This record gives sequence, structure tokens and C-alpha cells, in this order.
Amino acid sequence: MLIYTKQSVPMLSVQPKGKQKGCAGCNRKIKDRYLLKALDKYWHEDCLKCACCDCRLGEVGSTLYTKANLILCRRDYLRLFGTTGNCAACSKLIPAFEMVMRARDNVYHLDCFTFQICNAVLKWPLAQTS
Ligand SMILES: [Zn+2]
Ligand SMILES: [Zn+2]
Ligand SMILES: [Zn+2]
Repeated sequence: MLIYTKQSVPMLSVQPKGKQKGCAGCNRKIKDRYLLKALDKYWHEDCLKCACCDCRLGEVGSTLYTKANLILCRRDYLRLFGTTGNCAACSKLIPAFEMVMRARDNVYHLDCFTFQICNAVLKWPLAQTS
């Protein structure tokens, strides 16, 4: 069994040779003139779809993205798992799958953001009453 460490996987449009292949999506035989080969499996062009937006991956590009058993198009992959950036409070990288807080152009770890808010809330009443 192959384990994919790279999350972007090439798709190949191939002409079936010899024995008909079964589709990894619907388990039916592929009788089309072209089929897609990806993740060491064969797919109908109609069956290799993004788990998120249902787009046909063969039409949007030559690469699919996979993560946590999901097959995704580039757009959804980046939306869900792309790198988010660096935290404006602690300046450490925020992994994309982590919950983040956004304030204007800045992104914060959830914890860092709450910490900042707490500080602000603690400071403001003092500033106002004095
Ligand atoms: Zn199929
Ligand atoms: Zn998608
Ligand atoms: Zn942080």
C-alpha cells in the first residue's frame, strides 16, 4: 500500500488499454474513451469530484489534493488547509487547519487573540476611570 505524503497528487488522463478498469468512485467498469488515473486508481471523468464543491477535478486542472481521506480541488484544499500566515501576536506560523481569529489584515491564534482581548479589556476601564 502506498502512503501519500505529498498532498497534491497528479491526475492523468489516459486511454484505457487492454482489460477494462473498474472505477474507484462508482465501482462500475469504465467504458469511456478516456479515464483518469489518480492515487493509483482509475476513475470516470465524472466520478473524480471534489468532496467539497463537487466540481469535476479533471476539468479544473491536472492535480488533485488529498487530505484526511478527502479528495479536494485546489481551491477548497487551500481554503481548508492552506497556510494561513503568521500570528500577529506571537508571530509563529498558524497551521491552516487551526481555528484562527482575523482582525483587519492580521490573523491570530485563537489563544493569542483572546489573550489580547483580555489585556485590552483589563486596560480600558482603568484608562477611562482615571
Ligand atoms: Zn465511476
Ligand atoms: Zn472543490
Ligand atoms: Zn499566536
